Amino acid sequence: MNTFYVTTPIYYANSLPHLGHLYTMIVADTIARAKKQRGIERYFLTGTDEHGINIERAAEKAGRTPKEQTDYVVSYFKKMTAEFGLDTAHGGYDIFMRTTEPFHYQGVSEFWRRIANAKTPKGNDAIYKGHYEGWFCAPCAEYKTEDEYQKPKNPGDPPTCLIHDTPLDRVSEESYFFRLSDYDQALLALYETQPEFVRPESRRNEVMSFVAGGLQDLSVSRPRASVSWGIPVPNDPTHTMYVWFEALTNYITAIGFGNEEREKVAGFEKYWPALHLVGKDILRFHAVYWPAFLLAAGVELPRAVVAHGMWLDPNGRKMSKTLGNTIELDVLDRYFPTDGIRYFCLREMVFGQDGRFGYESLIDRTNSDLASGLGNLSSRTLTMIARYCEGQIPSGQIPEDKLLLAKRAGVDTDETTVAGFVENARVLFLQQFDLFAFSRALEAAWAVVARIDKMITDAKPWDLAKDETQKQTLGAVLYRSAEALRWLAVLLFPVMPAASNELWRQLGLSASPATVDPAGLKWGELKEGTATGEVKPIFPRLDKTKIMSEINESAKASGVHATEADAVSGAATQAAEPPPPMTHATEADAVGVTSFIEIGDFAKVELRVGEVLSAERVPKSDKLLLMKIDIGEPTPRQVLAGIAEYYAPEKVLGRKVVLVANLKPRKLRGFESQGMVVAASFGEEGRPVLATFTEDVPNGARLK
Ligand SMILES: [Zn+2]
Repeated sequence: MNTFYVTTPIYYANSLPHLGHLYTMIVADTIARAKKQRGIERYFLTGTDEHGINIERAAEKAGRTPKEQTDYVVSYFKKMTAEFGLDTAHGGYDIFMRTTEPFHYQGVSEFWRRIANAKTPKGNDAIYKGHYEGWFCAPCAEYKTEDEYQKPKNPGDPPTCLIHDTPLDRVSEESYFFRLSDYDQALLALYETQPEFVRPESRRNEVMSFVAGGLQDLSVSRPRASVSWGIPVPNDPTHTMYVWFEALTNYITAIGFGNEEREKVAGFEKYWPALHLVGKDILRFHAVYWPAFLLAAGVELPRAVVAHGMWLDPNGRKMSKTLGNTIELDVLDRYFPTDGIRYFCLREMVFGQDGRFGYESLIDRTNSDLASGLGNLSSRTLTMIARYCEGQIPSGQIPEDKLLLAKRAGVDTDETTVAGFVENARVLFLQQFDLFAFSRALEAAWAVVARIDKMITDAKPWDLAKDETQKQTLGAVLYRSAEALRWLAVLLFPVMPAASNELWRQLGLSASPATVDPAGLKWGELKEGTATGEVKPIFPRLDKTKIMSEINESAKASGVHATEADAVSGAATQAAEPPPPMTHATEADAVGVTSFIEIGDFAKVELRVGEVLSAERVPKSDKLLLMKIDIGEPTPRQVLAGIAEYYAPEKVLGRKVVLVANLKPRKLRGFESQGMVVAASFGEEGRPVLATFTEDVPNGARLK
């Protein structure tokens, strides 16, 4: 039996699902459906990576056990996959893999043991014990690599954490190492002999130059004392396997490596090797480290590692909460048909490059390509068949004695012209699809839509219908259109399963395009006399003005851009965790919900109620007011505020204000400012309005 195994990364269970996750799942789902359609037994994996210090810490903060914490995040992923039709019930993934599964534990241990017993191509032990020394951020609880820290200004000083802006500690601890440095030649040979192993080509070149630059051995364990939420190293329980070593192995343990029970359920022998879909940011783990581990363990290498680009906003900027330009999954779910989202994702991202995603462009594409394009073609064709042909597929043949009439009406009497066009489009579609160039594949399909549209416009069936002698000509035109639609339903099924099924039904066909191999389609197999189904718009038009104003309103109302994270307390806590250094997180993870702060961060800001005892203008400054503010301390604070253009000194005298009391004192115009007064700021010039209270509050009361 021909089989095919496709995987998304497993997502680190410290952030809730977002567009990046949805996108890779849609791509994997499309590939999986296409394989099944062609009669290939496929297996589709997605899931979560659930171990490591970050999960441990998030759980602790949320007052949960680590397992409860990951269950909680997984429940959101499962909700998301169900909403977007990507779960097993909708024909999507075959397994939602979790690294907390006991069979994974067993399989990983077996994988480690095999590597631990192996020799490298240069005859050394593949795993050895040593000391890991590196720059460690205590608040992050992790080592930082060069691109994860800020280099010091003065040589000799420690670097600082990019997240915490605090100096890093030089820490050394015992660790097991994987002797990656012995695998450079083997890996380079792999990329040379199997150029398709890393795709696209540009990424392959990157990977090759990284490896050619020399590889360093990898730390693959942490002392149990530092990280306990993980899988212990076999025969050395004082060490925990490093999370990404363990996580990568999920691709084989999920289907039964190292576990007979699981092997029976899925089938390692049956399905391995896999095609791995990854974001370009985690390519190195999949294209360098993972094959090296597999080589060491003596396990067959993956079929290929395919790296896709990232989603940017419509202006080409990275998406971030701060910029307010993220795409929210609940908004997508509320306003957009899933097939429209799938189409957009595959049509807009040119393979290997970054794509741009905005609600407006999603609406525009849905309306132009789907509602006005394919949807309109199908409804006009089927409506005319209902009206002119009693709702039955007409004959595609024009009898000899009517050919001249047809020609006079401007209709091509040679059916193979249209048939040939559609057949060529099929070839192109499948070629591009198999190269993961979904955008090009869809262009080929939409060339058919345009071609058939033109055929109808040229033939003017509504005029032909007025002339009884042109009945067969009319029938032939409508037949060609209906037959082209049948082909499109089959070709597009993996991309738009629900819409294709609906089109299929309206054409009066039985079963589903899900099991029709597009390579086996033959022109003319749509049977004359087939009763067509009730005609309904396959893609209702989206009301751009209404939808955009609703999206903008709700974004405004919620202040911050709402996400699922807001809906449940505690979510922000775990979402704010920085990802560990080498997780399966995609780049989009980094811009997901991480701009939320934790309650602990807010608690760092000491806000106190103060009363303005005195106020005066600062000489030679238009903007600054110098105030004495009582916040219940023995001596009032001296504070400068840039509000003098809008607040005369007498206007603030005696007012209750809010003061940031633990702000580091700073000097302005020669005066020390011992805190900061809080004010709203609006308009183009940033007009300040002092925050105050309408009820009586004592000086020094703390805001929380
Ligand atoms: Zn840090």
